[in-house]
Amino acid sequence: MIDFEIPADLAAERDRVRRFVIERIVPFERDPRLTQHGPTDELRQELVELARAEQLLTVQAPVELGGRGLTHAEQAVLYEAAGWSTLGPVAMNCAAPDEGNMYLLSKIANPEQVQRFLAPVIAGHQRSVFAMTEPDGAGSDPAQLATEATFDGENFTINGRKWLITGANGAKTWIIMARLAPNPHLPEGPTLFLTEGGTPGIVIERTMNTMDRNYVAGHGVVRFENLTLPKAALLGEAGQALRYAQLRLAPARLTHCMRWLGAAERAQSIAIAHAKTRTAFGKPIGEHQGVSFLLADNEIALHQCRLTIWHACWLMDRGEKARHESSIAKAYVSEELFKVADRCVQVLGGIGISDETVVEMIFRDMRAFRLYDGPTEVHKYAIGRKILR
Ligand SMILES: Cc1cc2nc3c(=O)[nH]c(=O)nc-3n(C[C@H](O)[C@H](O)[C@H](O)COP(=O)(O)OP(=O)(O)OC[C@H]3O[C@@H](n4cnc5c(N)ncnc54)[C@H](O)[C@@H]3O)c2cc1C
Repeated sequence: MIDFEIPADLAAERDRVRRFVIERIVPFERDPRLTQHGPTDELRQELVELARAEQLLTVQAPVELGGRGLTHAEQAVLYEAAGWSTLGPVAMNCAAPDEGNMYLLSKIANPEQVQRFLAPVIAGHQRSVFAMTEPDGAGSDPAQLATEATFDGENFTINGRKWLITGANGAKTWIIMARLAPNPHLPEGPTLFLTEGGTPGIVIERTMNTMDRNYVAGHGVVRFENLTLPKAALLGEAGQALRYAQLRLAPARLTHCMRWLGAAERAQSIAIAHAKTRTAFGKPIGEHQGVSFLLADNEIALHQCRLTIWHACWLMDRGEKARHESSIAKAYVSEELFKVADRCVQVLGGIGISDETVVEMIFRDMRAFRLYDGPTEVHKYAIGRKILR
């Protein structure tokens, strides 16, 4: 049986997270350190310290690494509350890409790598990147990976170019995907490497100007120029990167759904308040059926999205991979929540596209959600292939 009851202690923690985000974090949404390229590292560090003081930092981490080892279902409840502000997950250290990277590293990094590359990220002291997407190679189809690593038995040499790499500027823990060329020592093919930002050979060309601004340090264009790494930089087994990427993506795409659900709820609450007070043609606009239907459609979508997320979480908490269901959830939730944000803009009228309310920022930030961790069409492509098999 599926049990929808939220235990009392989890409900209390959810309320505490929501209060923390509203009282302590929302005021930073007007901070000039929330730039076109996302929150700066200085702002992030300040927010992280606020969450640390409340014991709300990286609560999802495994118990042995200092977290509470939350189940997927528990994450769904708390991340939704954190997502009320796009800065909430940044403060609590459960925002992308760190959250997915921490999950992956906790599954496949060896003990030395955990100490050097994962522990400081869990502690909120440093950030991480996952560098896969390429201008002329990997994107929707990661098998097109063009960045190449050669191995001489002692060292790897990596060459290639990546873009849309979230947080590249300033991150210290780097997970890099490159295709290992045929060699007599290790299996060839897509492989993950782990190294420090600032290693000679990692060249950050620029930070891209994008329409979203919720991710710390924005999205970078990066070049690997004879990046030389020791054998110990291998993350997991050679040739297994696409399998590891899937391991990371199934839960990571769900946590995006959880956080954006919280942001969409915020937009809906602002639209409802506006619909009750703004008048047109002799009554509050919410009393016009055209407006109440927009808000009702939002309520239906929010409810359906929550149930879709919870179902995928339930499967994963039973030990299932739930790749199909998390794919369905990602495709459905990203499309529906974007429609919710759009309808909120409509209810607000002209101010909907201004920064008089946070709805405009949520709308812009959320647009990218339909693209990353698999564009909707790619999920539909995978779902379609599965049902036709
Ligand atoms: C805000 C943001 C942050 C990101 N952060 C990172 C990061 O940190 N690290 C990283 O490596 N990457 C990151 N990415 C990149 C992201 O993973 C890619 O954008 C995504 O995988 C799609 O690849 P692409 O942009 O190259 O699109 P393309 O592969 O060029 O695809 C373009 C479009 O083609 C369509 N399409 C593709 N395949 C199919 C198909 N089979 N059927 C039907 N339609 C199809 C889709 O509509 C798709 O949107 C980020 C992207 C964004 C927007």
